[in-house]
Amino acid sequence: MYSKILILHFPPAVAQKAVVCYLTKKYDLLFNILGAKVSNSKDGYMVLEICGTRDNYKKGVRYLKNQGVRVSSAEQEIWRDTSKCTHCGACTAVCPTQALYVKRPEMEVIYDKDKCTVCELCIVTCPTRAMGLYSSKNTEDMLQ
Ligand code: SF4
Ligand code: SF4
Repeated sequence: MYSKILILHFPPAVAQKAVVCYLTKKYDLLFNILGAKVSNSKDGYMVLEICGTRDNYKKGVRYLKNQGVRVSSAEQEIWRDTSKCTHCGACTAVCPTQALYVKRPEMEVIYDKDKCTVCELCIVTCPTRAMGLYSSKNTEDMLQ
């Protein structure tokens, strides 16, 4: 049995569709939803653990991508460039796991990497581009 944790990003046009259910129907894959959120701009993201045969896993990931879902690996990591961070707090408003939070009374924005699910919402929110994605292994690697 093959098992992987993936981050799925749904653009607004796809976010309302039940594409994940077809992983079971079409490819006999089991999945466990570890987290999910819809942003104000109607983008959706989901952290999913997928189990099944390796062949079906590959087919399932290809199916998701063909549906317009962006698939990334949980093996990617988010970094913060502290020299660019102004502690404005914008990222803390979108972070679904409280990996980014304001430490009081200092009003300092703290990044707790252990709580990060790599949803990437902070990257698009940060006005100074202090947040970024470090990819140790990408989805194409996982499809080999
Ligand atoms: S949004 Fe960017 S600049 Fe603002 S606190 Fe977060 S990381 Fe720092
Ligand atoms: S990627 Fe950014 S917003 Fe998403 S969980 Fe990690 S720190 Fe929070």
